[in-house]
Amino acid sequence: MRVVIIGAGIIGVTTAHALLDAGCTVTLVDPGGIAAGASQGNAGWIAHVDILPLASPKAWRNLPRWLMDPLGPLAIRPYYLPKLAPWLLRFLWASRPQTLAAGTTALAALNGQALRAWETRLARLGLSHHLRPRGFLTVWDDPSVTSAMAALAQLQHRHAIPAQVLDRAGVIELEPALASGSVAGGLWYPTGAHVSDPADLTRAIGDAALARGARLVQAGADLLSAGADWSAVTLNTGEILPADRVILAAGAWSKRLAAQVAMPCRWIPSAAIM
Ligand SMILES: Cc1cc2nc3c(=O)[nH]c(=O)nc-3n(C[C@H](O)[C@H](O)[C@H](O)COP(=O)(O)OP(=O)(O)OC[C@H]3O[C@@H](n4cnc5c(N)ncnc54)[C@H](O)[C@@H]3O)c2cc1C
Repeated sequence: MRVVIIGAGIIGVTTAHALLDAGCTVTLVDPGGIAAGASQGNAGWIAHVDILPLASPKAWRNLPRWLMDPLGPLAIRPYYLPKLAPWLLRFLWASRPQTLAAGTTALAALNGQALRAWETRLARLGLSHHLRPRGFLTVWDDPSVTSAMAALAQLQHRHAIPAQVLDRAGVIELEPALASGSVAGGLWYPTGAHVSDPADLTRAIGDAALARGARLVQAGADLLSAGADWSAVTLNTGEILPADRVILAAGAWSKRLAAQVAMPCRWIPSAAIM
C-alpha cells in the first residue's frame, strides 16, 4: 500500500515507522523537512502521568485570574471573543463533572501507553539514549494547594500512575537546590521521563525512517482529493502524489487540509501508532 504522510513532525515520523513495519511504501511530505513544527521546540516531557482534561471546573475558577494576569497562561483578544464563543461554550459543557470523569478515564487509557510505546520504538531503532527516565517532580509554594495535590495523586493511583506526595523536607531531600526557596510540598513521579532534545529525537526517528526506505518530499501539500478507493495529494510544486491512503499529520496546520475532504477523518491516538 502506498501511503503519503503530510507533515514530518513527531506524529508523521512515528507513523512512518508503524507503516513501514506493516510493509507499506511511505512518502513523507513537509516543506520544512523533518521537525519543522511544534516537535522541534516542546518541553520534551513524556506525558503519561497527565490524565486531567483541560476542560474542568478548575479552569473556569482560574479563568478571571488568568485573564487579569499579563504573564498568565491565557489571553483572549476582545475582538476574537465572538468567534471564540461557540468553542468556549463547548469547553464549558465538557467541564461538567460526568464529562470530566469520562475524559480522565479516556486520557489515562491513552497517555498511560505513552512511555511503554516510546521505550519500545526507541529500543527497536537503537535510539534509547534519547530517553531520560529520571522521574519527575512538581512543587508548590502555597500550603493550601497540598490537599488538592494529594487528591490528584490518589486519582493518579487509581489509574496505576505511581505518585508520592512529599512535604517540604521530602522535596529538599530529593532536590537540595530548592532549600533556599519557599517550597511547601511536592509530587514525585518515579516513572516520569523526558527526552533529551525533541528536535534531535524527531530528526533521528525521521532519518531512521528514511534509512528504512521512506521517501521525504520537501514541499507543501496544497490539495487533498479522495474517492472511494483512491486519494491524491497535490503539492505546491504542482507535483501530484497518488496514494492508497493519506495520513494527515500536519499538526496545527491540519485543519485547512482536513476541510478539503468530505469523508469523516479517523483520529488515531499517537501512543497507538508508535
Ligand atoms: C511550548 C510547547 C511545549 C510542549 N511540551 C510538550 C511536552 O512536554 N510533552 C508533549 O508530549 N507535548 C508537548 N507539546 C505538544 C507537542 O509539541 C505536540 O503535540 C507535537 O509536537 C505535535 O506533533 P505533530 O507532528 O502533530 O505536529 P508538528 O511537529 O507541528 O508537525 C507538523 C508538521 O506539518 C508540516 N506542515 C504544515 N503544513 C503542511 C502542508 N501543507 N504540507 C506538508 N506539511 C505541512 C509542518 O511543517 C510541521 O513540520 C508542547 C507544545 C508546545 C507548543
